[in-house]
Amino acid sequence: SAKAEAKGRWRRYRPDLDTSSVERIQMRAELEQALPGGRFELDYQPIVRLSDMVTVGFEALLRWNHPVRGRLMPGSFIDIAEDTGVIVAIGNWALATAAATAASWPATADGRPPYVSVNVSARQFRTAGFAAHVEHTLAETELPADRLLLEITETLLLRDDEQVWHDLAELRRLGVRVAIDDFGTGYSALNYLRHTALDVLKLDRVFTSSITTSRHQADLVAGIVSLAHKMDLDAVAEGVESPEELDLLRRAGCQYGQGYLFARPMSTRRTHQWLTGTISA
Ligand code: C2E
Ligand code: MG
Ligand code: MG
Ligand code: MG
Repeated sequence: SAKAEAKGRWRRYRPDLDTSSVERIQMRAELEQALPGGRFELDYQPIVRLSDMVTVGFEALLRWNHPVRGRLMPGSFIDIAEDTGVIVAIGNWALATAAATAASWPATADGRPPYVSVNVSARQFRTAGFAAHVEHTLAETELPADRLLLEITETLLLRDDEQVWHDLAELRRLGVRVAIDDFGTGYSALNYLRHTALDVLKLDRVFTSSITTSRHQADLVAGIVSLAHKMDLDAVAEGVESPEELDLLRRAGCQYGQGYLFARPMSTRRTHQWLTGTISA
């Protein structure tokens, strides 16, 4: 009835009955303040070569030290930061910070320092002059371009935007590498894999955790890895948690992995200890 509807509407706008939207509005305001307030931090999670367990890179992962709510993971605020657009400033901060940190890493057993992998939101990537901004950041931090990997999502590629492909080509020209993050979870249009501006395919955690459940799942992962290799992409398995998963990933031909089995995301200070062998997982 109209009465019930009116009642429902009244309810919907009463703040005490709709804490989640109030929380979001409050969070929007707090997010604007967090960057100038120095409240963001990056943790780094090792990416290892599965054949010899050498750390070849680290993924930079954003954390927000909230004054009241404590340490917040990106899942609780990234979409709000996307909505307001503040993700662009936060993302640029993350890029500069991660590049500066990576520039200070020592060489590994490979004789070269690891790369840093930085998540870039679609909105950030699509800002005018993004490739030039990356070039500027590399120059400022003195990080060699081939030690930067940018993680983008399928959504960005699915629009098949001319400008996006142009910027990807420009990044490639600089020597920066590009990964498709969370591969296989979105509306995967395999068609975009033909574009040569991509370098790495990050196989979403759902594939890693399903690999032990059946022969079919293991075959599916092996198929995706082989497709990646045919397209000249490195494959990185996300969310490796057990020795059994590691074993099956190796059998599936996957060369790289990331996950709690190897190490959890760690502070900058600990990355140095990790690389010099003064700590282990
Ligand atoms: P992602 O890029 O797919 O990052 C991997 C996520 O998986 C991270 O969550 C990581 O902590 C988690 N993870 C790693 N190993 C394991 C494992 O073995 N098991 C499980 N269950 N999880 C594992 P986190 O740090 O909460 O980040 C969530 C997402 O937030 C990221 O997913 C990424 O999409 C986004 N994000 C993080 N940092 C940034 C950033 O600087 N900019 C943007 N735009 N997005 C970011
Ligand atoms: Mg990522
Ligand atoms: Mg991912
Ligand atoms: Mg993911």
